[in-house]
Amino acid sequence: MTVSAKKFDLCVIGAGPGGYVAAIRAAQLGLKVGIVEANHLGGICLNWGCIPTKALLKSSEVNHLLHNLDQFGFSAEKVQFDFAKVVERSRAVSKKLSGGIAGLMKKNKIEVVDGFAKFLDSKKISVSQDGKEVAQVEAGYFIVATGARARVIPGMEPDGESIWTYREAMTPKALPKSLLVVGSGAIGSEFASFYRNMGAEVTLIEMAENILPVEDEEISKLARKSFEKQGIKVITSAALKALKKGKNSVTATVEVGGKAEELTAEKVIMAVGIVANIENLGLEKTKVKTDKGRIVANGYLETAEANIFAIGDVVGAPWLAHKASHEGTIAAEKIASKMGKYDAKKVHPIKVENIPGCTYSMPQIASVGLTEKKAIAAGKKIKVGRFPYMANGKAIAMGETEGLIKVIFDEKTGELLGAHLIGAEVTEMIQGYVIAKQAELTEEDLMHTIFAHPTMSEMMHEAVLDAYGKVIHF
Ligand SMILES: Cc1cc2nc3c(=O)[nH]c(=O)nc-3n(C[C@H](O)[C@H](O)[C@H](O)COP(=O)(O)OP(=O)(O)OC[C@H]3O[C@@H](n4cnc5c(N)ncnc54)[C@H](O)[C@@H]3O)c2cc1C
Repeated sequence: MTVSAKKFDLCVIGAGPGGYVAAIRAAQLGLKVGIVEANHLGGICLNWGCIPTKALLKSSEVNHLLHNLDQFGFSAEKVQFDFAKVVERSRAVSKKLSGGIAGLMKKNKIEVVDGFAKFLDSKKISVSQDGKEVAQVEAGYFIVATGARARVIPGMEPDGESIWTYREAMTPKALPKSLLVVGSGAIGSEFASFYRNMGAEVTLIEMAENILPVEDEEISKLARKSFEKQGIKVITSAALKALKKGKNSVTATVEVGGKAEELTAEKVIMAVGIVANIENLGLEKTKVKTDKGRIVANGYLETAEANIFAIGDVVGAPWLAHKASHEGTIAAEKIASKMGKYDAKKVHPIKVENIPGCTYSMPQIASVGLTEKKAIAAGKKIKVGRFPYMANGKAIAMGETEGLIKVIFDEKTGELLGAHLIGAEVTEMIQGYVIAKQAELTEEDLMHTIFAHPTMSEMMHEAVLDAYGKVIHF
């Protein structure tokens, strides 16, 4: 096999939501761009993350609705589903979107190089397929966007049969009767919700005191209450000590409050975090620094090597697709500005505090900015406003009366410090607060904003009014 030689202004390594967005933005700015991808265009997000899980969750919501039709005046007998079709639909949605990325690369004249990239030096990489070198790529700039993978606890390695990572959890052959989900972050909680709504017995265990531990405590507690009402068994402050495989089951030893407990389920999903893909990249041939298993990059995504940038999951938390994409845009624009093709003044560093986080479980959870605890810990004097779903006309009409909107303001400046939402459609509503935070709107601006009636977003207004003792409907 001949080794082809390629030369680009910019070579992006990894075609997930970080990499492909960076490549397109750089191409738009007139750079000659190549992108190297070891597996599939679209990365984890399109193939094994955000998108296929949302397709699965939609099916489980349909199942839930079909079993709760009476409140809307309907009845249906013998509601059934074909589980294989549910999974098939999710895979088809992924395939369609991944195919769309190939089209976008072509449209933007970005050359896709299939294979695994490794730095030979700071200006050159080797690309290999099945361990054989197929190309060498030289570029003025590189963006490392190699993403992350599921964290594995030694001695409790997923086997793909009874102990699953998110990949097997997304492509099950059959619906398990019982399931143990280890870890209650967004990924674990979404799978717990999906399988419970499809009819499995689900136990969710979490090492921290609350489920969804990065969320505001009040919201985490409401999520737990709701999960438990739906029949999910939730165990917190629980440390997983061992997993023992049986013939058709797995028994977990879990330590809760100093006591060991045994839990047996047909399948286990390990959702205990993710690890950045920094290995075998040849980073030692460059000045790029790593720390605690991730590449170190500044707000402009510059690494310690002047011509190498790093974006997305490989640079660390929050591990979110929209964060990766936004970082991709910043890195591409910064590189173009260094090449004299973009106005450097228009490039702004990432503002981590303005990145929203969403969990698409039932109920949904969404947040941006500081939690109440963190705002207090930061020494802020705060004003907190709340509005419950049960007092909103549209929510009542939709049969969605479970949920809460909570906002936190800086008492002195009126700055919106954080917004924390739980309930139907909050993953859409959160964007209103994200825009407010990005535009640095104050409580006054938000109070003077007119919200359409009847909408669930009216609750966003009422929560702000509540923080200042002006709430109308509650
Ligand atoms: C189950 C699940 C659900 C999720 N749901 C959401 C969600 O709802 N919303 C959200 O915002 N985020 C979600 N995420 C997280 C989201 O998928 C990631 O944050 C996002 O994909 C990160 O993008 P990235 O571009 O940094 O990396 P990735 O998407 O991981 O892409 C990296 C790419 O690099 C390639 N690669 C790696 N090494 C090399 C190499 N040496 N050479 C060439 N190619 C290489 C990989 O094959 C991969 O395609 C979810 C994740 C999971 C696992």
